[in-house]
Amino acid sequence: MNEIFYDFTGNPFVDAGIWAISQWVGKKPEKLDKDDFRSIINDVTFLYLSPKWSKNMYQIFPNNPITNNAVKDKKNRYSQILNELIEEMTPLGNNGNCISCGRRDVLERSAKDRVPLTGSKKLINYFSFGTDGADYCPACTFAIQFAPLIMYSCVKMLLIHSNSRKVMKKWSKKAKNNIDKQLSSKNYTGCLNEGFKNPKNALFHIIQDMILSYDERWYLEKPSINFYHFTNFNQGPNLDIYNVPTSVFRFLAYIPPDNFENWLKVVRRGYRFVNWEKVKEEDEYKNNPNTVYDNLLENKSIIRFFINRKNREAIGGWDLISYYLEEVRNMDEKRINVIKDVGDRLVDHIETMDDMKTLNRLEMAANYRSFRNVLRIIIKKRISNGIEDPLFTFDDYVDYLFPEGNLTWRETQDLILFRIYEKLQPWIIQQGNQSELETQESEEAQEEE
Ligand SMILES: [Zn+2]
Repeated sequence: MNEIFYDFTGNPFVDAGIWAISQWVGKKPEKLDKDDFRSIINDVTFLYLSPKWSKNMYQIFPNNPITNNAVKDKKNRYSQILNELIEEMTPLGNNGNCISCGRRDVLERSAKDRVPLTGSKKLINYFSFGTDGADYCPACTFAIQFAPLIMYSCVKMLLIHSNSRKVMKKWSKKAKNNIDKQLSSKNYTGCLNEGFKNPKNALFHIIQDMILSYDERWYLEKPSINFYHFTNFNQGPNLDIYNVPTSVFRFLAYIPPDNFENWLKVVRRGYRFVNWEKVKEEDEYKNNPNTVYDNLLENKSIIRFFINRKNREAIGGWDLISYYLEEVRNMDEKRINVIKDVGDRLVDHIETMDDMKTLNRLEMAANYRSFRNVLRIIIKKRISNGIEDPLFTFDDYVDYLFPEGNLTWRETQDLILFRIYEKLQPWIIQQGNQSELETQESEEAQEEE
């Protein structure tokens, strides 16, 4: 008998439920059968009825037997509903009118007590299109009942959905590990909750944690990942959807574990409204808005966060930033290499000429014209010093350094400075911090007195 009940549907609630069941019984989704479904009802209903889980359930399934105060025998009532769905469910067929799987027929329309963010039968006042529910087959309705097991609590609920089996598998595994801890300690704390209130920060934390915790060949994946931040509260259901660009996932997956600390340094520079002098632990800022994360989601550049201009520091090295440029910014590889080479020649120039003034000028240039002018001065100096190798060719200049002139010159400036800071760090420390060192020494001397 080769009956298959579940396959990816593309519906975030149904797929989450399928992976939750799969993780709970330890079988691949396509191997699940009715005995598996029956075997989990007791344990899951028990969990849902614990105070913290049932509090989460108010946001997910209001008015179902778990959350409806009028229902007396909650456990039996809910188990009965689940058992009925098992009886009604059929294996996947070729077609059907279920809006989730499309491969089975609907027997009864489901409302928000069974499917989040759908109608509430007679109470249709706030539900879009005024429909009284949604058309889900018994099998898909059944799966949804287990979706809370892999939801993440972030004031509202956060639901992760991906077309990548690997992502769904690892995520549901993490959620199940958390439940296993709750069960063994008899301390039922509800959906996974790590104190995040800001959904964007939470979703990056989830992805980064997944990449770091599971030693997988993530770079082979090209997942599309969505996060659904929602509440199904009776008083005001609400939904925000965040799409994590595939390129952003691939960039994060590329970062070698031993360079991740540097990436997190870049991220830290993105937090807004933080008084770093006073901060003692991550909890104090982890919910602040973060421009690095915001920009990654909005397809805006984060180049400037790799560069600490004040300390003349290049964070993470050329490997990290060039991978970001290529993967996320879609920058031409040739352009990246030309900028790097020009940066290297400028490094030689500054070092051999002992020329802090040139570095200052490159940093201070505030528009396209003055930046080009600084480069022109350097070219002249190099010629008068008898250096034959040109700073850059005419083609490099037009095609790669400033391909869109005024539009991209700032990016080029940032990247050239990044390369200079990276290569020249010892020299910069020697030069630039001379005066700083002197003040520090005199301060220390004073303290000793
Ligand atoms: Zn279905």
